[in-house]
Amino acid sequence: MTDASVLGAAKPAPVETEALTLMLGDRVLLDRATLRVERGQVLAITGGAGSGKTALLGALAGRLPAGVDMAGSARADGHLLIAQGGRLAPRRPLALQVAEVVGHHLGLDLRSSLRRMADGLDRMGVPAAARRFDLPPEQLPEQLRWACLFAMAVAVGPSVLLADAPAAGLDPTVRLRLLHRLADWARADGVALVLAGRPEDGLAGPADRVLALRRARLLPPIPARTEPLTPLEPPGTARLHARGVGMSYPLAPGPGGKARSLAVLHGINLDLRTGETLALLGETGSAKATLARSLLCLPPPTAGAVVWMGRDLTATATPPAAGDARGDDADRGGVRRARRDLQPLFPDPAASFDPAMTIGAQFALVLESLRPDIAADRRDHRIDEALEEAGLRPEAALRWPSALSVAEAAHAGLARAILSEPRVLVADEPASSLSAEERETFLDTLMAVRDRRRLSLVLATERYDEGLRDAHRGVVMLAGRVVESADAGTLRTAPLHPYSRAMLAAAHGERPALEGDAPSAFAQPAGCPLRRRCPLAREFCAQAAPTLEQVAPGHHVACHYWDTPADG
Ligand code: SF4
Repeated sequence: MTDASVLGAAKPAPVETEALTLMLGDRVLLDRATLRVERGQVLAITGGAGSGKTALLGALAGRLPAGVDMAGSARADGHLLIAQGGRLAPRRPLALQVAEVVGHHLGLDLRSSLRRMADGLDRMGVPAAARRFDLPPEQLPEQLRWACLFAMAVAVGPSVLLADAPAAGLDPTVRLRLLHRLADWARADGVALVLAGRPEDGLAGPADRVLALRRARLLPPIPARTEPLTPLEPPGTARLHARGVGMSYPLAPGPGGKARSLAVLHGINLDLRTGETLALLGETGSAKATLARSLLCLPPPTAGAVVWMGRDLTATATPPAAGDARGDDADRGGVRRARRDLQPLFPDPAASFDPAMTIGAQFALVLESLRPDIAADRRDHRIDEALEEAGLRPEAALRWPSALSVAEAAHAGLARAILSEPRVLVADEPASSLSAEERETFLDTLMAVRDRRRLSLVLATERYDEGLRDAHRGVVMLAGRVVESADAGTLRTAPLHPYSRAMLAAAHGERPALEGDAPSAFAQPAGCPLRRRCPLAREFCAQAAPTLEQVAPGHHVACHYWDTPADG
């Protein structure tokens, strides 16, 4: 594959490969890759696991693993490599690491190295108050660790920066903000910047060009699917309700043995209609997963009620106290019925299987427990049907969980969830551990199952656009509260809350307007929980927490200044 920018090029670019081919034994890691990156240009290379992007960066950096043979050419002049999984030494004070890395590259003393590092931190947007050169990185928040790593690269001042999976693991809003700052630095200082990551990492946003690696070959990127799979029919009557749902966890007693607790979910009200898909959206720490589990009473919420078909699940899921006149079996039928109707999909499906039993044996137990009306000799047939509907072959029933790939485990989790013929699936990041292509396949299968069975679906995810793509409605959560709810189309095109706008910007690879990380549940600011990060925050935001108000039919927002334009 020939990159068009090569044609007619006269001056050598700082990054160039020509028909670069990498082989590990008989295996092709990279097949005739030709590319060129100019000074001040940002190139994103996207691809799933094993697509060859790490091998490509390794060849550019002259750091190929032992046993890899190379043909063609690869060159990156004056480069610095941030390798995949590369990080600061966790226990060594930052100042010492700056002295070693910056001082070593530029021949500077500690004071001069720290001055350059401070400039790098400026360019990564780290406020002076957050700079702790005396601390080891393990004591810094993850966002700050990445900012320090990038700042150190900026301080060294390479001609070429190669970054493999940069800022991986950060929330999209935080990751995209940092990567845009890194791209700004590269353009301003004439650095050739190569970012490599997964297609869903949003690297296209800060980049000038994107190339996709698929099965070791460079291709133009495949556009993400943006339209719903099928036209969504209007949903029916609400059957699942959350009323004032809250969750608190006990803490160690305070002075004088005073009982203390930490509230992570606050007074949530929701209605889920028959056949409706509801996206629960929010960054890590927003408590969307806690809400999803509370809807299943796994565990029951500590405040409020979850009502399914008129029955208060929180009352039936809580074991009766000793001596309770209801007795042990007062509502056993109701609990079983709810367990059968409301099924979970977990974020780590492989871990949710018992490693000591085959998939089929575990499925048989589920049927025995939740569907005793199905005769024993019919169970195998039901298991085969569920596996096939979830995209697996019936033979998967004979396999052990450890023999399943991550993607197969996700599909097996879906098969288990539909065994009991549920009415509602509650999914907490069910595809978070899958590659981009596996996610697409899994979500397509999930939506096909939903449509075929007219299921209601609650989908908790930090992927704003992906969560809303196949949803009727969305709920945006921040610090355990709903800050915006609306139909999916409104949230995808014209959200009003600054937090929703930032999540939408990050989903499109744009620079989110929020500053800093989400505060932990232990350190929520007074007033609006977003106020330290919000571009629209004013004095009043510190004095009063905004409440959820209807701003249009079916559209609710919790922000004092929701009608202020995004640019302030
Ligand atoms: S209430 Fe204030 S701080 Fe909170 S989101 Fe609205 S403008 Fe921002």
